Amino acid sequence: MTELPSDNAIDTPTDGAEGAGGAPERSRHFIEQLIDEHIAQGRWGTAGDPTVVKTRFPPEPNGFLHVGHAKSIWLNFSLAEQYGGSCNLRFDDTNPLKEDDLFVRSIVNDVRWLGFRWDGCDETGADPLAGVKFASDYFRRMHDWAIELIEKGLAYVDEQSSEDVRKQRGTLTEPGQASPFRDRKPEESRERFEAMVRGDVPDGGAVLRAKIDMASPNMNLRDPVMYRVLNAPHHRTGSDWHVYPMYDWAHGLEDSIEGVTNSICTLEFEAHRPLYDWFIDAINRGRSDPEKIHHPQQTEFARLSLSYTHMSKRYMRQLVEEGRVSGWDDPRMVTVAGMRRRGVTPEALRAMCAEGGATKFNALVDFGRLENAVRDDLNKRAPRRMCVIRPLKVTITNWGEYGDAGRVEMMTAVNNPEDEGAGTREVPFGGTLYIERDDFMEDAPKKFFRLKPGGEVRLRYGYWITCHEVVKDGAGEVVELKCTYDPQTKGGDAPPADAEGNVRKVKGTLHWVEASTAAPVEVRLFDRLYTAERPGKATGDHLDDLNPDSLEIVEGALLEPNWRTTEVERSSGTGAFADGIERFQFERQGYFCVDPDSKDGLLVFNRTVTLKDSWAKAAKGEGGR
Ligand code: ATP
Ligand code: MG
Repeated sequence: MTELPSDNAIDTPTDGAEGAGGAPERSRHFIEQLIDEHIAQGRWGTAGDPTVVKTRFPPEPNGFLHVGHAKSIWLNFSLAEQYGGSCNLRFDDTNPLKEDDLFVRSIVNDVRWLGFRWDGCDETGADPLAGVKFASDYFRRMHDWAIELIEKGLAYVDEQSSEDVRKQRGTLTEPGQASPFRDRKPEESRERFEAMVRGDVPDGGAVLRAKIDMASPNMNLRDPVMYRVLNAPHHRTGSDWHVYPMYDWAHGLEDSIEGVTNSICTLEFEAHRPLYDWFIDAINRGRSDPEKIHHPQQTEFARLSLSYTHMSKRYMRQLVEEGRVSGWDDPRMVTVAGMRRRGVTPEALRAMCAEGGATKFNALVDFGRLENAVRDDLNKRAPRRMCVIRPLKVTITNWGEYGDAGRVEMMTAVNNPEDEGAGTREVPFGGTLYIERDDFMEDAPKKFFRLKPGGEVRLRYGYWITCHEVVKDGAGEVVELKCTYDPQTKGGDAPPADAEGNVRKVKGTLHWVEASTAAPVEVRLFDRLYTAERPGKATGDHLDDLNPDSLEIVEGALLEPNWRTTEVERSSGTGAFADGIERFQFERQGYFCVDPDSKDGLLVFNRTVTLKDSWAKAAKGEGGR
């Protein structure tokens, strides 16, 4: 659903422009405070020392990145940047069944697009994987440490079925039971583990477990599984391995190997921290100080949840596979690829993440925050153009009285009122024009300041026109307006005062295009993918809350002819988008970008966001939608 253009919306600041004029002030979040404390204690190094903060972003290559990942990326990379440390991009590729090289490439591309550079990254992008780390590169070391734990009597091979292992785990109120294999000799466990590694054990035939405490109130410490048998090839290590490490065993070790100081993860891993600490302590047990492996500090923060979206990869995959969206990069998806195609800028995404900072409490962030961050950025940088989305023909009946009836006159239009250096452009005006269908009303209420029979409006940068005849088709539908123009109002200025000194006024200013020169375009109007703040909350199925009107395709919209971003604009910063995507403000309509589906003869524009938040009004009961 599109919002009605307001009567004089052209230069009114957008909702998002409030608070513009510099980065919003924010207090230092708890992870920054923690790092400040580490620095004061000299724990890892001092500020500016490359060892002071080492972070990483550790995605599993099993899907596309989404806005929640963007939050984690922002947090890890910006902390490293801020303290003069560095951040790794490391793939947690420990589950060969779900992973794919396609995802590796899309993730690398997305992190780069967001504007972050990992340690060892190739600045030119020619070698996209330069510096990228993979957990699979550490499989050998992890394996050797597992052997050490077996030999220290801290791990054992359990040959029960996974069903029995599960049954023995106990519950939150009851302790677990020891496996009959728990006290087997280390030599025996080692021999069995080597058989697993060689591929002599079928899938599910045995697991390697840490020997911790079957009665621990923390279920994660009840002899967790470290390795499982999986006789499956891996996208990077091929058929080298027949056992694969479990996430809990692997993750902390990967961080240790890379010298990560702050292992930042989301809150649900808080109860896993004692296990990660136990694994590192177990490896270090009996080692002299210089032989000890590095012990990172895990810190948990609240994951980003955005209203009207769902951040589960599983749900996203379902939408893609069932054809409910056009793909992972459907502009309605909050995947990084989808948001990029929608026209969201990396700057806006980073600003939204920074605005929220890092907290310890899970909360639902309003989707409007993302939209406002986009408005804030595009208000400053998007070139302005005029596009009529649902055209209504206007014939200027006195056009021929002041010159050649077929002439077009060039009007000067400002490219970006927020950026003087962006200059102006010439827009043709003539005897046949189009205005927005919604900008005319036959039986208009008094407060309707757009065009009505007998009424006068300003055409932005053009002339003032007065409607004197409404033409309808057989069905009673308005198909054309006959208007006169006032040649004394060129550029949209008020005409000179009359003999009594009265100056005529108009209240409405409309956008328009000239008929013979306008470019036909297809416009894709997106709305939120879900109609509920928390999709699926009411019925348990997110599909029940899909918004049936989340995409409206309008063919036959008309765009002013010289719409391409100019060099003058770019050199001044307007329309200079590092990702090469052309983005615009269509005056009074919203922000739009060119979609990659565009081809010669058919231009496609995606609406990134409207100028104002129509959902906020609806929430206040003002009937904005
Ligand atoms: P899964 O593990 O179920 O496949 P995931 O969303 O955890 O899904 P990962 O690839 O493991 O995906 O995530 C990479 C990193 O992104 C992790 O460090 C994770 O904590 C972080 N992350 C994922 N979702 C969010 C979120 N909504 N907010 C903040 N960080 C997130
Ligand atoms: Mg995960």
